[in-house]
Amino acid sequence: MIELADALALVEVTAEPLPPRRQRLLEACGQRLAAPIVADVDSPPWNRAMMDGFAVCDADFGATVEQMVELDVRVDLAAGDVTSLAIRPGSCARIMTGAPLPPGADAIVPIERAVDGTAGAHAGSRVRLREETFRPGQHVGRRAAAFQAGSAVLPAGARLDAAAVGLAAEAGATHVLAIPRVRVAILSTGSELVPCEETPGYGQTRNSNGPMLAAGVTQLGAEPILLGIALDSPEPLRAAVAQGLAADVLLLSGGVSAGDRDLVPGILAACGVERVFHKVRLKPGKPIWFGILRRPAAVPTLVFGLPGNPASSLVCFELFARPAIQILAARPRADWHLLRTRALLVASVKAAADRPVFLPCRLRPVGPQMEAEPLPWTGSSDLLGLASAAAIAGASPGLIVLPAGAGRVEAGSEVEVVIRG
Ligand code: AMP
Ligand code: MG
Repeated sequence: MIELADALALVEVTAEPLPPRRQRLLEACGQRLAAPIVADVDSPPWNRAMMDGFAVCDADFGATVEQMVELDVRVDLAAGDVTSLAIRPGSCARIMTGAPLPPGADAIVPIERAVDGTAGAHAGSRVRLREETFRPGQHVGRRAAAFQAGSAVLPAGARLDAAAVGLAAEAGATHVLAIPRVRVAILSTGSELVPCEETPGYGQTRNSNGPMLAAGVTQLGAEPILLGIALDSPEPLRAAVAQGLAADVLLLSGGVSAGDRDLVPGILAACGVERVFHKVRLKPGKPIWFGILRRPAAVPTLVFGLPGNPASSLVCFELFARPAIQILAARPRADWHLLRTRALLVASVKAAADRPVFLPCRLRPVGPQMEAEPLPWTGSSDLLGLASAAAIAGASPGLIVLPAGAGRVEAGSEVEVVIRG
């Protein structure tokens, strides 16, 4: 059995960022860039009409008495049309949004500013334009106003959300170098387990850890791979473990304690997974197992044997598996662990004599301080206490951290808390 801080340090040194992978742009959606995206074009690529109207010369505006300018329409330009015809003072082009500004033109007068039924004027006719709100150069998207060819439009580390994917596409990035999504296999072990869709019979338990861990993995932006339930029997368990070892991380739940059917550590050893630690001085979560499968010339698989009891399983996921997944995803150190802070206890709590305790609580800001309200909790199998923390608006779920041997800690005391969301 090792101390919590030592166990966390072992996770941190064992996990290494996944190698970046060159992928098609859309396949990398949601992932983080491992290299900046450099534009191969200017944006806008040329001076561009930003409204439907008439491309005019600045010189024709601002000097008239009657605030009306009458111009010859020389050419019609829809988006996609180009012309080498120059627009000189006294003339203009009919132009639609997205078309390049013709040579000689400086500004766009929107179609709505045409008067006397001349808004429909095409090449060969005349248009009368009101000029009272005219500004030189108006409604033109200037070449390279947004970005220049050769400039980095997205830095390494940027997440490829919809806007970033659009920008990368505009900048000519058909492929990107990105940190692949961490693939996390989830295997629930226990001969008593039944899928959650079923009503458990006498002696049976719903596999709530499967969806719970998949949710935790999803919330980190990683990809859960649900492997379902393995019986506490060597051969099916070995086969399911072998399947899970193809992922970047394998999360097992159950079968790591001291019971007769707790086969997980032995099976993992038989599969070549090197044990890094087993059992941590911690409540809940003492039975946790952590190891690594190293392979020549391939990315290793990290393996967490989480306790079967759901609350223990979740606490261990958040304390140990979360930083490992974040490190594999090349997240900055500040994102590895759940945040910790100090809070004032609303009601008294009791520490354990032999190990640090994590107790579910509800956290609320009260002025500059944080208050921690311990929640009714029956222990490591009780998810209600953990889940009810988030059920109230303005409150966040948390865990009160009590050092071993702290005895009874009275209301009003300041304690350390972990913020879970
Ligand atoms: P174990 O760690 O296998 O000894 O399991 C401890 C407790 O957790 C037992 O009561 C199990 O039935 C329960 N348990 C194990 N796996 C799961 C699971 N996937 N979902 C819900 N409860 C579980
Ligand atoms: Mg079991």
